[in-house]
Amino acid sequence: MRRPLVAGNWKMHGTRASVAELINGLRQQVVPAAVEVAVFPGSLHIAQVVEGVAGSAVVVGAQDCAIEAEQGALTGEVAASQLQDVGCRYVLIGHSERRTVLAESDDWVVRKFAAAQSCSLVPVLCVGETLAQREAGETLAVVGRQLDCVISALGVDVFSKAVVAYEPVWAIGTGLTASPQQAQEVHAAIRARIAAESGDVARGVRILYGGSVKAASAVELFGMPDIDGGLVGGASLNADEFGAICRAAGS
Ligand code: PEP
Repeated sequence: MRRPLVAGNWKMHGTRASVAELINGLRQQVVPAAVEVAVFPGSLHIAQVVEGVAGSAVVVGAQDCAIEAEQGALTGEVAASQLQDVGCRYVLIGHSERRTVLAESDDWVVRKFAAAQSCSLVPVLCVGETLAQREAGETLAVVGRQLDCVISALGVDVFSKAVVAYEPVWAIGTGLTASPQQAQEVHAAIRARIAAESGDVARGVRILYGGSVKAASAVELFGMPDIDGGLVGGASLNADEFGAICRAAGS
């Protein structure tokens, strides 16, 4: 039985004041214990959030980490060991905004994934196709390739301590959501790809859906057999909406 996870990606949003308000709102949400809740603030606010959610069930993640696991001369980056030290449990790896806007390569994605795990962080590997790739019928091939990069470099067992997030690029921040059937098709293919290497790992790995998830769409999405929760961007900046999405994962 996989425990549902709802993860809120705050992206490049927040001031100390708005983050304090959001923490306060989150602490008031009643979410079934069966659902794991994680929030991913920008690096500047991680320490504030770790402190602010202390004593609650909410855990904290980072939106990225450096390709090197340990501290060193790498200006502007944050090492996985530093994220672990400040209290993070998760880290997003290969978010499409980083792959496209910052030209993050598959090689870097693999290195960041490995760096995260070497510091006992749980990587959330983001995969997904663009609209052009979907329209060309390439969705499963693209997602399969993004997954294979990690499997071939690090082996399938790394997914026993990782999460996959399927995030169609065309659905991120656009208000467009994959239908539950479209999402389930890709989630099932991701699980099947992992199962081809290890049935046990495939049965245990949590696969989240991300792309304009709202409370209104969450129940149906999370009701699909291979969707184990969500990675939520815009809607996670509203504590009540995010709380409702978290509750949907427990229904
Ligand atoms: C995301 O950034 O991971 C995301 C899913 O964003 P949104 O929910 O705003 O589409």
